[in-house]
Amino acid sequence: MEIRAFSIPPSSQFLKSLVNFCLKNLIFEAPEISKIFFIFPTKRACFFFKYYLVEKLEKASFFFPKILSWEEFIQFLYVELTPEPALIFPDSAKILLFLKSLKSESLDKDPLRVFFWASKFLEVFEEFEKEGTIPPNLLYPPEELPTQAKAIFENLSQTYIKFRSLLKEKGIIFSSFLLKEVRELLLAFKNKILEFMEGLYFCGFAALRKAERDIWQILMETLIKANKPCNIFFETDFPPHPLIEETLKDLKINLQPLPKEYLELPPKEPEIFFYPFSDIETEVEKGVELISFSSKPDYLGIVLPQGVTLLPLIQRLEDLEIEINITLPFPTTFLPLNQFILTLLKAQKDRIENQYLSENFFKIIDHPLLKALFKEKAYFFHLLQKLKNFLETKKYLKISKEDIDEILSPIEKEFFDSIYQILFKNWEDLESPDKVKSALNKILEVFKPLFIKNSEEENLYTYLTRFYLSFLEKEVYPLFEISLLWEDLPFSKNKEFYLLFLEYLLNSGELPLMGEPLAGVQILGFLETRLLSFENLIVFDVNERSLPPSSPLNPLLTEEIKRYLGLPVYRNELWDYYFERLIHSSQRVHLFYFKTSKGKTEFFKEPSRFIQKLKWQREKEKKEFREMIFSQRLICPKKLEALPKSEEDQMTILSFLDQGKLSRSFFETYLTCPVKFYFQYLLGLKPQEETLLEDKLLGNFLHKFFETLFSSYLNKPVSFSELLENSLWLSLFKDLWKIFGFEKIFDPLSLWISEQIAISSIKNYFTALSQLEKEGRIQETLILGVEKELFSEVPYNSYNLNLWGRIDFLIRRKEGLTKYYLFDFKANPRKTPAERSLKSLLNLHLPENYDKEALQKVKNSFGQDLTNFQLLFYLYLFLKNRKNLLKEDNFLRVEINAGYLTPSNLEKPEKYLFTNLKPKDYTQFLKFIETDFEMIIIFILNHLLNSEAFYFTEDESNCRYCNYQFPCKNLRNNLRYEGVHYEIKIETHFGSNRNNPLD
Ligand code: SF4
Repeated sequence: MEIRAFSIPPSSQFLKSLVNFCLKNLIFEAPEISKIFFIFPTKRACFFFKYYLVEKLEKASFFFPKILSWEEFIQFLYVELTPEPALIFPDSAKILLFLKSLKSESLDKDPLRVFFWASKFLEVFEEFEKEGTIPPNLLYPPEELPTQAKAIFENLSQTYIKFRSLLKEKGIIFSSFLLKEVRELLLAFKNKILEFMEGLYFCGFAALRKAERDIWQILMETLIKANKPCNIFFETDFPPHPLIEETLKDLKINLQPLPKEYLELPPKEPEIFFYPFSDIETEVEKGVELISFSSKPDYLGIVLPQGVTLLPLIQRLEDLEIEINITLPFPTTFLPLNQFILTLLKAQKDRIENQYLSENFFKIIDHPLLKALFKEKAYFFHLLQKLKNFLETKKYLKISKEDIDEILSPIEKEFFDSIYQILFKNWEDLESPDKVKSALNKILEVFKPLFIKNSEEENLYTYLTRFYLSFLEKEVYPLFEISLLWEDLPFSKNKEFYLLFLEYLLNSGELPLMGEPLAGVQILGFLETRLLSFENLIVFDVNERSLPPSSPLNPLLTEEIKRYLGLPVYRNELWDYYFERLIHSSQRVHLFYFKTSKGKTEFFKEPSRFIQKLKWQREKEKKEFREMIFSQRLICPKKLEALPKSEEDQMTILSFLDQGKLSRSFFETYLTCPVKFYFQYLLGLKPQEETLLEDKLLGNFLHKFFETLFSSYLNKPVSFSELLENSLWLSLFKDLWKIFGFEKIFDPLSLWISEQIAISSIKNYFTALSQLEKEGRIQETLILGVEKELFSEVPYNSYNLNLWGRIDFLIRRKEGLTKYYLFDFKANPRKTPAERSLKSLLNLHLPENYDKEALQKVKNSFGQDLTNFQLLFYLYLFLKNRKNLLKEDNFLRVEINAGYLTPSNLEKPEKYLFTNLKPKDYTQFLKFIETDFEMIIIFILNHLLNSEAFYFTEDESNCRYCNYQFPCKNLRNNLRYEGVHYEIKIETHFGSNRNNPLD
């Protein structure tokens, strides 16, 4: 007997042709056939081979040969040949054994630093397992590697030997390490195979690693010697693909084409359709359109080289109500439950003693899974809202259980305690593998009702969750159950290590989705297609980095290092072969790929090199191919120029007038941007509470400080020189600092810096004024009002309006002349009143119409960004109330000024509206404010009521910090028909409390 090797062209249908050969050359009625082994690269190929065999045999009774995938075959040989089978452990446990094998100096007693490199070194070990050799030490590892990695490389050989001996000692093995084991067993007990093997057929392999080749050779030589048949079938044209040629050379065997009589179909070119897309939606839509159902399992194959396309595809397929079978590796990272557990781990990693980062804390309690679990429990949502409000008002960056307990009622506390225990407390003291397991178990127990309820009706989510649970059971739990994995591990008492290890397991997991291979529409991963032939084939995402895939770079397995270590260097030859055979094995092929222009977008995708090659070949050979062009079905909405004002809008505005009180910001908002006014006042959209930046928080603190301090001097003279000398203000400062709870908001360094900044800002202000006191330029300071509310009645049509404002500080100072200051506290040291613009206000002729330009003209008279509007509004209110506020009879004998109080501005802590006005101009201006300012207010009201539309701001710098950017964008791109209220289509952070014009 001799080894025979046959080639079967992919277009002749490999598996069916192989069955044809078997039917003529084997006797299926004889039980001896069960000792003939047929080995295929994948399990799916085994299923299809069996299916075709049954279909073609057309016999009532027959015996099957032994049909196994390569993985099953290796396990079978291991069990048959080994005198002492070891326990096969999940691959995820390897890293623990690896860490135990390291020399203690390499570990540096710090698992966190060595963990990453350990996972990368395991890949190096795997390479050597495939080669069946022992790695050498790398005496001169690349300089750029970190010390730990270099140290491991220098001792690679010893570490590997220790690792293998640890496996032996513990009596365990990993499936990826079986290859080398089987090779060694075969060398020792090769004749044993004759007890159970009468013949061997290797079917459809392409390239072999050294250890695999050795196994083949031992098996084949032993069988041939015993005069038993040994055949190899390659799926390739004749002459063969270069990759197969290489394999034949290594095996030292000759190839012959399978005689034509066995070929299922004569070799034929497939019909190929190319589909370039620019977005995933169109890609998926077209894919679904091409799907038609047949009961034949090889009628249609849908190939997904990357699992991520599965989700949008399945969502579309759910409507078709057809049986779908999915077989591909799917990353656990996409699963909500996995993400949720990872969020719990992150919260623990970022925890500082008993405090959690508010962001992490909130992400957990506001997680959609938790909301789904408590969907019907109103008290949960009440509690959630309470916690949200608490965090929004307190602005704590870190939060503890004690902080939360303070705001909860006893019943709420009881409920919250139970959630807290499972989501937080259980994870705080992970001192042993058992604790990790039980913390994990508790999570699953809590969410079980969610899974059980869903499992009655299978959908993609429940389907994936089922696989995920089995992943946890097989790949994660056992690792925390088996004590021998943890014995002698140098950091098994390190809590951080457990978190890190669990995070590693959850992040690197893959769900081996396994659908029924012979029924329904088949959705497969690319490698699952090996040896299959479909009538119709749709391949998604034929793009670079997807086909061929880009595996994450391992810095320990660069080409240079591989050469040093004597490992073979492969590029993409194998993928090239698989792609070619897949295309040619099908009759109609639809290749989908993205083609997006280079540059700006992150979504840039290039068609795969296989697409380029295929097109080039077909053009060269003058073969036909069709490229389908898809223009995006994008209907560009007409951009909205302004928002038409409806009668309903006018009624709402009138209802504000009816209430009587109108605030300064009511007018200011309208002047800034009428659309913003519409969102805020007419729709009542509550802007999202922004997270306060550190300097804004500090500004709020200083404001409060001066408010409290000045309140204690209300209507009393205050001396800044005295204030500076005694330390009373400092104790006030300390008390307030505590109340603000900054230690929960800032890290220790920022806390210290912020406190110093706040103290020096206050001191700076006091020093500046005490200096003026010492120089005699200030003789007396009297605090007349803090947060002083002022009103002015204005008749408007049939309404009696009350204009309203709140002045932060009202101060009377004797500076030779008596001066009244209306101060607004400002945190931003750059904000300055625009004195120069006052002239344009004096010269303003109020427009007679109410269009966009008219409003713009009025707005511009208040300086850039309406800087002066607020101060002038307060000045107006003051003048209207001067009889009560002024101690002098003639207001022209005193100076009245408005300005900003900004202690953080070290040079000018006070900035005034009037600094350089000549006395004549000043008097004219004050009179103008008292008599004419009202006219401007009335013009704004008229515009608000009578203009045809709400206009978008002309000045786009207003949009930069606008809280309504999202609805505004939405609005601009949607037509709003007259009389129809604009609907907010985004669910978000916007509440719906109609704004009070008073605020
Ligand atoms: S984003 Fe700009 S245009 Fe839109 S509401 Fe805000 S300020 Fe107005």
